[in-house]
Amino acid sequence: MTGTTQRTTQDWQAADSAHFLHPFTDFQGLARKGARIITEADNIYLRDSDGHRILDAMSGLWCVNVGYGQRALVDAAATQMQQLPFYNAFFQTATPPAIALAEKLAEVTPPQFQHVFFSGSGSEGNDTVVRMVRRYWDVLGQPARQVIISRHNAYHGSTMAGASLGGMSGMHAQGGLPIPNITHIDQPYWVEHKLPGETMDAFGIRAAGWLEAKILAIGADKVAAFIGEPVQGAGGVIIPPATYWPEIQRICDRHGILLVSDEVICGFGRTGHWFGCETMGFRPDLMTFAKGVTSGYIPLGGVMVGDRVAKVLIEQGGEFEHGYTYSGHPVACAVALANIKIIQDQNLVGHVHDDVGPYLAEAFALLGEHPLVGAAETCGLMGALLLVQDKATLKPFDAAVGIGMVCRGHCFANGLIMRAVGNRMIIAPPLVITRAQIDEMAALIRRCLDLTLADVRRHGWL
Ligand SMILES: *Cc1c(COP(=O)(O)O)cnc(C)c1O
Repeated sequence: MTGTTQRTTQDWQAADSAHFLHPFTDFQGLARKGARIITEADNIYLRDSDGHRILDAMSGLWCVNVGYGQRALVDAAATQMQQLPFYNAFFQTATPPAIALAEKLAEVTPPQFQHVFFSGSGSEGNDTVVRMVRRYWDVLGQPARQVIISRHNAYHGSTMAGASLGGMSGMHAQGGLPIPNITHIDQPYWVEHKLPGETMDAFGIRAAGWLEAKILAIGADKVAAFIGEPVQGAGGVIIPPATYWPEIQRICDRHGILLVSDEVICGFGRTGHWFGCETMGFRPDLMTFAKGVTSGYIPLGGVMVGDRVAKVLIEQGGEFEHGYTYSGHPVACAVALANIKIIQDQNLVGHVHDDVGPYLAEAFALLGEHPLVGAAETCGLMGALLLVQDKATLKPFDAAVGIGMVCRGHCFANGLIMRAVGNRMIIAPPLVITRAQIDEMAALIRRCLDLTLADVRRHGWL
């Protein structure tokens, strides 16, 4: 049976586990439980195959920023598919949507960005970053500058280069990663690394100093670039101190090293500015984007190429031997244009910066008073609650308890998608969320925290 309607949940689950290998999934474990089948969505709400309504506080996978059911994006795709569903950009050709999107991206990104290289996803965008920064130094006659420095617990995608740039130990343990000449420093996570009595500002400067120490250990003449997410997403919404990124910028400048901002999550309004580097106060040479550029309605990614790199590649580089079949896919670009139009017309960046961002911060501050919560942090429309055994000392639960997964189970059962990363419960709701919907979300979160606390008491985990 191949139809997409009128099958029972059980029937879907059986077919799913028989044929579909899911990403980042223990296949056998999922087959035992059965997947949750999502069948439709509107605004910030999903519906599953049993008819449950679920508040999607994760925007799909950090991407559905304009919310579900935006007719303009659907119409843009349909119109473009009828007119020209595909043409490539390889052989001295281009399509109007790709050109118009490149022009629009130059308008909404910081002023140093006048050029874009398109990919099909964030991972591919970061593969392009690796190829491009090494090519840049080759063209400049410094081919020894090969090393790219990233951070532990970073997420930069799942291709060979993306997973290597990322700092996830579980990913590195499978398949011989990282690839050569990619190395990692510690993340600026205060819970792990801040010293007693140290101010956040001082910690931020010290954490940035780890980059300089690494550069000096390797030799600056061998370092090509540093890459980081302005706020680490998949790592657990790790928000660096305000001093961190400006100091990273100074260190990169001092050693002539390219600075790359992975904006796949932070881009397109998530942090309350168009791009996370604007919120965090730094000026990258390259920016990777994906997810929010189309609000996930269709795959698209790419790299914004700043003047410093673009000038060298254009004026001295000759042919850049790199590209994807779907670089500048006309349908994806048409959808991105419609998506950016909504962000602009509805002033969603201002909505996050002036209205729902601060409102979420207030709601999270109240959740921070809950006995299970050791810290509540937000940046724009990203938020994290640190679950602790002891509020005063921030003593963590025994890892065997799996406190985050316990809480996440209650969220699923109560109609809320919230993600657990270790002991951090995280959210990144659609940018169109309203104050009333934040109240609804916060009430659901509180209920799930209470249920988790009841488990803790019942099982004697305290
Ligand atoms: C999701 C993500 C990626 C990878 O994007 P894909 O489209 O899944 O390949 C890269 N970087 C960051 C910061 C991400 O969150």
